[in-house]
Amino acid sequence: MSTRPKIGISACFFHADPARPIFTGKTLQYVEQSIVHWVQSSGALALVIPSPDGPTQRGDVTLADYAGLLDGLVLEGGSDMWPGSYGEEPLRPEWSGDRIRDDYEIALLRAFVDAGKPVLGICRGLQVINVAFGGTLYQDIATQLAGAIEHRNAKLYDQNFHTIEFVPGTRLAELYPHPGFKAPDRPLPHYVVNSVHHQGIKELAPFFDVEARCPNDGVIEAVRYDSTRGPVQSYVAAVQWHPEFHDWNNETVLAGDPLLNDFIAATRAAQGDSLVTR
Ligand code: MN
Repeated sequence: MSTRPKIGISACFFHADPARPIFTGKTLQYVEQSIVHWVQSSGALALVIPSPDGPTQRGDVTLADYAGLLDGLVLEGGSDMWPGSYGEEPLRPEWSGDRIRDDYEIALLRAFVDAGKPVLGICRGLQVINVAFGGTLYQDIATQLAGAIEHRNAKLYDQNFHTIEFVPGTRLAELYPHPGFKAPDRPLPHYVVNSVHHQGIKELAPFFDVEARCPNDGVIEAVRYDSTRGPVQSYVAAVQWHPEFHDWNNETVLAGDPLLNDFIAATRAAQGDSLVTR
């Protein structure tokens, strides 16, 4: 029996571009390197899940086939979502997002949830999860949320940081213990994370709990599905920051290990469940 969980990572898309000098006019499905290395740091095998759809589609392989094979799913960061995915028109052409990737990742999420396999969303992954379960997004935090701090800075990119505050009593707060939680007369502990997101949660999807917020403007930074209230039994959790971009030697930023190890432990537990029922 393999002791390494097999973790699927959703693909990013470079859509066919007649001006691109390599793979001219071809669609590229790719992963960013540090997300793969972060998942591998837990001892798990990271595998890209390519979308079987598109104009070159052949055969009958489905995302459910991948969900059956793999032990868990990481929804990777990347482009904005298409506002149509949550019932809105793009307010500006540059906020049109990536509709093809939305459809692919929402289907991927459903396939893993249907198979009872854990899902972890990173940045865009948090937004995909919220939308797939019935929530909505700010198309542009900067213009739609009064008083918002800068959650994305094109120049600073992953060197743009802000603090977050965990919601006491949540799983995430438990994973990042701090003495301040237990003392009512002390302020909540603040942690520092990177912030590379243009969009954010406007209306939270049903049966989800907020686990962390940006204390400066209230922007939701982490969510988790509550299986005790909702019909889905899978582990579905997501964060708005990119733990995989954090410098592991920098102790002033939030460590990614507790979050990753909790997810990997859930995939091992789900593996045990499916072995029992086989
Ligand atoms: Mn942020």
